[in-house]
Amino acid sequence: MWSFETEPEFAEKLDWMRDFVRTHVEPIDSLFHQDQAYNPGNQALRAILAPLQAEVRAQGLWACHLPPALGGNGYGQVRLALMNEILGRSFFAPTVFGTAAPDTGNAEILAHFGTAAQKTAYLQPLLDGEIVSCFSMTEPQGGADPRQFTCRATRQPDGSWRLNGRKWYSSNARWAAFLIVMAITDPDVPVHQGASMFVVPADRAGVTILRNVGTTFDPPGSGSEAYIDYRDVVLHDADLLGAAGDAFRIAQFRLGGGRVHHAMRSVGLAAKALDMMCERVLSRTTQGSLLADKQMVQEVLADCWLDIEQFRLFVMRTAWKIDQLNDYKAVREDISAAKILASRVLISTVSKAMHLHGSLGISNEMPFGDMLLRGFVMGIADGPDEVHKVTIARQLLRRHRAAAGLFPTTHTPAVTRAAIQRHAAALDLPGETSPWIDYVRGLTADQLDA
Ligand SMILES: Cc1cc2nc3c(=O)[nH]c(=O)nc-3n(C[C@H](O)[C@H](O)[C@H](O)COP(=O)(O)OP(=O)(O)OC[C@H]3O[C@@H](n4cnc5c(N)ncnc54)[C@H](O)[C@@H]3O)c2cc1C
Repeated sequence: MWSFETEPEFAEKLDWMRDFVRTHVEPIDSLFHQDQAYNPGNQALRAILAPLQAEVRAQGLWACHLPPALGGNGYGQVRLALMNEILGRSFFAPTVFGTAAPDTGNAEILAHFGTAAQKTAYLQPLLDGEIVSCFSMTEPQGGADPRQFTCRATRQPDGSWRLNGRKWYSSNARWAAFLIVMAITDPDVPVHQGASMFVVPADRAGVTILRNVGTTFDPPGSGSEAYIDYRDVVLHDADLLGAAGDAFRIAQFRLGGGRVHHAMRSVGLAAKALDMMCERVLSRTTQGSLLADKQMVQEVLADCWLDIEQFRLFVMRTAWKIDQLNDYKAVREDISAAKILASRVLISTVSKAMHLHGSLGISNEMPFGDMLLRGFVMGIADGPDEVHKVTIARQLLRRHRAAAGLFPTTHTPAVTRAAIQRHAAALDLPGETSPWIDYVRGLTADQLDA
C-alpha cells in the first residue's frame, strides 16, 4: 500500500518539534562552535541544553531512534525521517533530542552486540546523556579502503590483546569517555573477516591524541577530529564488542539507519536554504524590480525546489522500504543513493542561496559557509560518493545479464523480426505499418547475425 499521509497524533508532534526547534534550538547555533555539542565540560552550553532536553523528554521525543527496550518509542524509519527533517535545520537539534552522531550509532551497536557489563559501563550513561563517545575506524593512509588499515590488536600469551596503530579523524575523541576502535585481529584473512571492534576507555594507558584537527573554517589548533596513536594498549576479551572478526558486520549495522537520518537532515537544511533564498529575493530590488520577479532567479528557485522535493521523496521511500523489509541489506543501493543525493542537493542549493545573497551571502554574517561544508562532509564521511556509486552500480548490474548474441536484445531488426513472426496473421491485413517490416523481411539470417 502506498500512502503519503501522516497520522494526526504524530503530525501534532511534528508541529510541536517544528516550532520548538525554530524558536528555541536554532538560535543556539550562533552561540557556540558546533563541536561544543559534544563537550560535557561546557557548563554554559549544558545549562542552556538541559531544560530543552527535559522538555523533549516530557514530550516523549528523546532518543526516538532507540528500540522501546532502551527507552525509545519504537518509531519506524518513516517517522524518524520526518523528525530528522526538522532536526536538520539546526546543528544542536540532534543533541537536544538525544540523537547526535556518533553516539546514536555507538549506542545502537552497544545495545545489539554489547555484553551486560559493557551496557552498564558505557551504554546506560551514554543514553542518559552523561558521557559522549567516539567511533575510531578511519586510518591516515586510507579511509575509503579498509584493506589499507594497519591498526592491529595482537593476542598475547596471557590471553590479553595489545592494540597498536594510528587512527585519523576520530570525531570528538577529546570529549569521549570511550572509543569504539576497529583493529585487525587476523591478518591472514581478508580484512572484512579479520577485523574486530574493541570498546576502549579513553583513559586507558597508551591512548594518545596526537593532535586535534579542525574543519576548513576553524583556526589552527582547534577542532575535534582527533589523530590518535594507540600504543601497546592492553585490551581483554571483555573489551571486544561482538566476536573477534565481527567488525564489518557491526559497522554495517551501525551505518544503515544513520545514513537515512543524515540524508533527511540534509533535506531539512536544504529546505532552510531555499526558505532563506525566497525571503531574500522577495526583499531585494535591483534594476527596477524585485529579484523575485527576474526569470533567471525564478528558474533557480524552481530548480532548487525540484531537487529538494525529489530528494525528499527518495529518502522517504528509502525509509518506507526499510520499515517494510526490515533488512538494511535489501535497501543498500537506496541508502547509498540517499547519501549521495544529500551531498549533491545540499551543495547545489546552499551554493545558490549563498550566491543570491551576494556579498552578504559570502560574509561571516550569514551561515552559508557552515551549511555548504555540511554538504561536502556528506559526500565524504561514512565513505565517499564514489564508493557508494560503486555499490549502486554493482546492485544494478546484478539485475541484468549480458546479451547472448553479438547485438543487444533491443536491436531493432531482431525485435522487428520476432514481432513479425508473432503477429504474422494480423500483419497480412490491410493497415499502415512501419517501414522496418519490409526492410527486416528482406534481410537474411546471416545479414542479421541471428
Ligand atoms: C566531518 C567528518 C567526520 C568524520 N568522523 C569520523 C569518525 O568519527 N570516525 C572515523 O573513523 N572516521 C571519520 N571520518 C572519516 C571518514 O569516514 C573518511 O573521511 C572517509 O571514509 C574517506 O576516507 P579518507 O578521508 O581517507 O579519503 P580517501 O580514502 O583518501 O578518499 C579521498 C577521495 O578519493 C576518491 N576515492 C576514494 N575511493 C575511491 C574509489 N573507490 N573510486 C574512485 N574514487 C575514490 C574520492 O574522491 C574520495 O573523496 C570523518 C570524516 C569527516 C569528513
